[in-house]
Amino acid sequence: MTEKTHIVGLTREELAEKLKEHGFEAFRAKQIWHWIYHRGVTDFAQMTTIAKKQQSLLAEHFTVGRPGIARQLTSFDNTRKWLLEFEDGNKAETVFIPEEDRGALCVSSQVGCTLTCSFCHTGTQKLVRNLSAGEIIGQVMIARDGLEEWSRPREDCLFTNIVLMGMGEPLFNYDNVARALRIIMDMEGIAISKRKITLSTSGVVPMIRRVGEELGVNLAISLHAVRDELRDVLVPLNKKYPIAELLEACRTYPAANNARRITFEYVMLKGVNDSDADAHELVRLLRNIHAKVNLIPWNPWPGAPYETSTDERIAAFARIVNDAGYSSPVRTPRGRDIFAACGQLKSDSERKKGEKVWLGDQPGA
Ligand code: SAH
Ligand code: SF4
Repeated sequence: MTEKTHIVGLTREELAEKLKEHGFEAFRAKQIWHWIYHRGVTDFAQMTTIAKKQQSLLAEHFTVGRPGIARQLTSFDNTRKWLLEFEDGNKAETVFIPEEDRGALCVSSQVGCTLTCSFCHTGTQKLVRNLSAGEIIGQVMIARDGLEEWSRPREDCLFTNIVLMGMGEPLFNYDNVARALRIIMDMEGIAISKRKITLSTSGVVPMIRRVGEELGVNLAISLHAVRDELRDVLVPLNKKYPIAELLEACRTYPAANNARRITFEYVMLKGVNDSDADAHELVRLLRNIHAKVNLIPWNPWPGAPYETSTDERIAAFARIVNDAGYSSPVRTPRGRDIFAACGQLKSDSERKKGEKVWLGDQPGA
């Protein structure tokens, strides 16, 4: 028996092409796309605009799967976390953070991360592999399933935004991330627009321009330090792409303007990067960039060599940045009790001893 084709992850053109091979007319791709991505249907038998005979033909050759759910947790603050299990047994987490009238899904791009930022739990995980486009989209579909929002009018949905801030470095998996985002942004499907999607990178400079030109989504930069000596330690990728180069890429980011600013993420580490002098230097560095700053109280994890800055220190830091004209909200930690807060994600996928993991052509790999 031949393997069935997974539909989730195919572009609309690819879907039409595959369907044609089985004798389907071109307009069927549009219908099926709508059922899968707009209505959330996984069973061809529920696609009532398609004749029974054709439904069976589809079921014979295609599948609309979801990743398995290994575990799901809900925090006291209603943050929800799903630990997903993919076909090969690898796992990754996805987290939904509800707010008053909107909510963001924090999506993972890799199992683990090849980078080893010293304050990040994901960076300590041994096993790393890229997630496929289907696995990235699968996270969005699982969240819509779990929130029961497929059949609700979009204006009543809580799931409005996506942040690529889960496990992994999205720009080390650019092709799959870009493919997934194009499918997610398709207005006849999941229909989350580029303005509601933010991609966070630790600073893979050569890929940043492409994000703006090809995807046009919002950009977030994990800056965390204002001097190269310190950033080399906190975000080791800095040794390859130092602060000046990173900021130059931001200055010329095609999708940024006064209304759509680049977010600079800055994790607050007690006695490490949280002085007044650091805040003043940050302001100096951001000159001529359409920027806002997001101060993130560091979220602890077992064995980490850091402490979170005090509330007073964070407030003083924020004031300096704010007085210089940059919005600088302090991010309230969400879902800490279920280990779902920034930088706490780590699945129990571990690399088998001696196993080689291929990560494709990626800068810095
Ligand atoms: N790899 C990408 C995206 C995932 S990390 C990146 O680094 O940007 C998402 C954000 O959480 C990043 O800004 C990261 O620096 C931050 N982060 C990581 N560990 C953290 C921790 N323990 N506490 C608070 N923020 C953390
Ligand atoms: Fe990877 Fe981002 Fe964590 Fe750094 S902060 S180890 S790039 S996930």
